[in-house]
Amino acid sequence: DFGLIADLIRIHANERPDHLALRDSERTLTYASLNVLMDRIASALQRDGLAKGDAIVICATSSVNYAAVFLGALRAGVAVAPLAPGSTPESLGRMQRDAEAKLVFADASTAEVLGAAETNGIPRIALDGSGVGRAFDDWLAPEGSPPARVEPEPSSPFNIIYSSGTTGEPKGIVQGHGMRWSHVKRGARYEYGPDTVTLLSTPLYSNTTLVVFFPTLAFGGQVILMPKFDVASYLRLAQDSRVTHTMLVPVQYQRLMAHPSFDAHDLSSFQYKFSTSAPFGAALKADVLKRWPGGLVEFYGMTEGGGTCILEAHLHPDKLHTVGRPAEGSDIRLIDEAGQEVPAGGDGEVVGSSAGMMVGYHRQPEKTREAEWFAPDGKRFIRTGDVGRFDADGFLTLFDRKKDMIISGGFNIYPSDLEAVLRAHPAVADVTVVGMPSEAWGETPVGFVVRRDGDTTDPAEMLAWTNAQLGKTQRLASLHLIEELPRSAIGKVLKRELRERHGRG
Ligand code: ATP
Ligand code: MG
Repeated sequence: DFGLIADLIRIHANERPDHLALRDSERTLTYASLNVLMDRIASALQRDGLAKGDAIVICATSSVNYAAVFLGALRAGVAVAPLAPGSTPESLGRMQRDAEAKLVFADASTAEVLGAAETNGIPRIALDGSGVGRAFDDWLAPEGSPPARVEPEPSSPFNIIYSSGTTGEPKGIVQGHGMRWSHVKRGARYEYGPDTVTLLSTPLYSNTTLVVFFPTLAFGGQVILMPKFDVASYLRLAQDSRVTHTMLVPVQYQRLMAHPSFDAHDLSSFQYKFSTSAPFGAALKADVLKRWPGGLVEFYGMTEGGGTCILEAHLHPDKLHTVGRPAEGSDIRLIDEAGQEVPAGGDGEVVGSSAGMMVGYHRQPEKTREAEWFAPDGKRFIRTGDVGRFDADGFLTLFDRKKDMIISGGFNIYPSDLEAVLRAHPAVADVTVVGMPSEAWGETPVGFVVRRDGDTTDPAEMLAWTNAQLGKTQRLASLHLIEELPRSAIGKVLKRELRERHGRG
């Protein structure tokens, strides 16, 4: 049971040529036009000598052309490495060389950072005609010169996604066509079809976005790309376009629910809202369920694959503190420091196995081996670096990333426990706790708090209030006010950055 997403788009184009496929703030594209554009892109790639297994880089703001290049490359069997425009020039140069890209697609928003990156003279194409490279329209093959048919296998590279770099340098994760197909198959459960209107405001380089983007198109629905998220425009667009599906990261839900005009919008067209990437507080999930029509589905997983947990929050309102149960076909287990499986009810590092697993890290066989765990019967799992525990009903509660766990005076402290206490303080709008080096204790927990608008509570008072509720070994060493928590473009708190910033004083 395996198919190609690019083939499905051709079928939709034949069946419903005038149906809308893609839309951004400037343009729309019907299935017929998208299909023609994909052919012209695939032909141009073949003309330029790219063959099955070669790679291109896209480093740009989400747009109709961005999406079309991704899909056109797939038709030519060419893998796409979508890179984060917000990366540093050093990191971008490194990722481009690592992906061994033969062509780079860019736009005005990335001209500067790409200009500063060491790119080894890889030819560049400007998706928006901005002069950052050869104009896209000139580069395209003429209409009516169909590309040679290419048939990737399930293990052929579909894309190379660089991990978020939350815990270290981004790693290139090679996902195969089979892995993407497994997401498409899951789509039937969420009622994707030609009437689907999916609003995506997270960037196209992130797996978070792609797990919803591809199923929408595979089922003949419409994708609206919102290149830059802001709460008011999102709500207006969602209401006016009768949006049925969306993907948002927890911090976006938080901001949407807090917006004074949220309840004034008609969001009755929504069927499913998705979330992934970062911890999603139970209280926030409950608020979304109460005030926003349609189902709420949280995914927990990694770009590396190796299994997903799914919480269908609307069906399990008593399990909002969990990330749900292993998806069909996902085998999720917990292991201890010695690599032994943890008995039922215990805490351990989450490992997962499924049909949708990365082929490996690109050109990093040692890193791939470090990420693997093999069950006694030889079954291959991927280690997540996250710590969790299953309840008696098989729902997984996540604590923290192993790397974020604080070991203070020999005691393990979960930052999430401390964050939960702080979050209950009326002055706190946002919070994170990180471990800072300490001579006396090895590490010690330090809190960073964003106060609610206009609040003037003294941080010393918040510190005392918090510590009064914590065990002796858990107490915060200090608490700092901060304007905003550093977050990645997809809403992950960058604890590493806080640690470095604060460590330097
Ligand atoms: P890097 O591996 O480079 O440090 P990353 O792990 O953040 O980056 P991703 O693959 O994008 O890169 O994210 C996977 C991680 O995100 C998971 O290991 C987990 O820590 C976190 N995560 C994903 N989904 C959820 C969720 N529903 N709830 C809490 N955390 C989540
Ligand atoms: Mg990771």
